[in-house]
Amino acid sequence: MTSYNGKCHCGATEWIAKLEKDQQGHILCHCDTCKYLSGATFTLNQIIPKSALKITKGEDKLNKYTYYGESGKPVYCYFCPTCTSHVYHHQMVMGNDTIILRTGLLTEGINGTLKPAAEIFGKARLPWEKEVAQTFETLPPS
Ligand SMILES: [Zn+2]
Ligand SMILES: [Zn+2]
Repeated sequence: MTSYNGKCHCGATEWIAKLEKDQQGHILCHCDTCKYLSGATFTLNQIIPKSALKITKGEDKLNKYTYYGESGKPVYCYFCPTCTSHVYHHQMVMGNDTIILRTGLLTEGINGTLKPAAEIFGKARLPWEKEVAQTFETLPPS
């Protein structure tokens, strides 16, 4: 277990995430929602217990955007309202205690120390993007 520091672009919010060895890499998500929310071609994520994330600055400032996933259950996206960086998402379909951390905003995500671990929603990967890790058409079999 290693602690990683993250912050939003404007610095109003900061956090510490504790990642187990098998969580110390990015899951690239190519789904269309991630394209919309990031304005980029994929997002960098890891699934972690809610208790593994501690917002150390500006927790009360985080804003919440809600959309409904394919399951029909809500997904809460927590982001800095000043600079719009997304800190984490809470998909209710995964239960109360599990969240999706945006690993790209950790210091080691910004500087490239964390590497791609897997790619999901590969079916929506743009045709000009190269595969960089084991790819699943949608989600890995559970
Ligand atoms: Zn910010
Ligand atoms: Zn996605």
